[in-house]
Parts: sequence; structure tokens; C-alpha cells
Amino acid sequence: MSFKGVVETRCPKGCEPFEAEIWSFINGGDSPELRESLAAQECNLILCPGCGEPFYPEAPYVYYEPQAELLAFVFPESWRDRRQVWLRKMRDDFAAFKKVMGPRLPGDIEPDVFFGPQALSELLGREDYRREEREVMEFVAKDLGLALYRVGPHFARRAGIPDCLPYAAQPPAAPTKSSLVAGLEKLLQTNDRLSAYQSYLAAVRADPAFSIPPAARR
Ligand SMILES: [Zn+2]
Repeated sequence: MSFKGVVETRCPKGCEPFEAEIWSFINGGDSPELRESLAAQECNLILCPGCGEPFYPEAPYVYYEPQAELLAFVFPESWRDRRQVWLRKMRDDFAAFKKVMGPRLPGDIEPDVFFGPQALSELLGREDYRREEREVMEFVAKDLGLALYRVGPHFARRAGIPDCLPYAAQPPAAPTKSSLVAGLEKLLQTNDRLSAYQSYLAAVRADPAFSIPPAARR
């Protein structure tokens, strides 16, 4: 569920203050239209009733997308100067949030902190790109009879690796380094444009201490 709050705000040109309703908590999982509006940097963009100027009120909001294990605190751009203060506030808020969410929140999830709407918009764009590439991969992998291993999405995003990996074995056999390499090789022989998988294969091959990344929670 997403919800709104009322803030008193005034436009950057200094017109009369007024009250505006803005989103304070956005669940991108059940409000895909709000996720799109964040990606377009249109969420919480309001118009001054005095002069018509569009602007973002100085109010923080939280973005949560459970499937992606993504939790972001978005503070106003102008608060960047007092970054340390807001980081402390975020940690307090996050502790409270954890209490409310309980077991629904993965234990090791680390919130992202952004100042201004741009960085979250870019992150959502990268997530969309990753998802599209994953969908192509899944289509090809299925055709080739490869098994799929789902990596924890929070871990995968932080590590910059794909969140779903093909491997050459039959489930319930878990992936090993060699079945993963074989699966990736077979995939890339069929489609060599899957750049995230190209890079990942190179990284796996080059890592003598490679271990299988943590699985997604079921
Ligand atoms: Zn104005």
C-alpha cells in the first residue's frame, strides 16, 4: 500500500505558502503507476497555485519494492548539505520501519539513500533494463533446456550481477561453478548480446575463489 501526507510548502519563487498532498510512502510493487511516475521524475512534482511553477516540495519520501528487495529513502535535493544529519535520521526511521515490517523485510536489506529524484529514477531505469535482459535470457535458456537459479535481488543489484542465472543441470540439482559456466557458455553461444551475462561469465572464470551467490528467498 502507498500513502500520502499533507505538507505545507511554498514555491521557489516565494509565493504564498500552501498545503499540498504528496506521496510519503510508495510501494512500487502494488502501485506500478507510481513507480513509472518516479522513473519519469514526475512523482511529487506539484504546481504552485500562485504562479504555476512546477517544483518538488521539501519533503522526504520512502520507496519500497518488495520483489526487488529495494528500499530507498529519498530526501530533498536541498538537504544534501546536511547529509550526515539525514543519514542518522534515515537509520532511526529504518529501525522503526523494520519493526513494522517484521519478517516481511529481508534481514540483510540495506536502504539506499538519495537526495533529489534523479538517482532513484536512474536506478529504476537500470532495473528495467536488467529485467528486459533477464526476460530474453529466460526465453533462450528455456529453449536450450537450461535450469534457472534466482539470486537474491538485493545482493545481485549491489554486486552488479544478473539476478537470475542459467546453469546446465536438472533441478533440484543446485548450481555449481562448472554447471554455471557451462550454462552461461551455452546461453551466449545462442545469444551473444546479453552483456550482463557476458561480463558475469568473464568474472566467474577469473575468480578462483568463486562461490555461488545467495539464492532468492522463496
Ligand atoms: Zn509560485
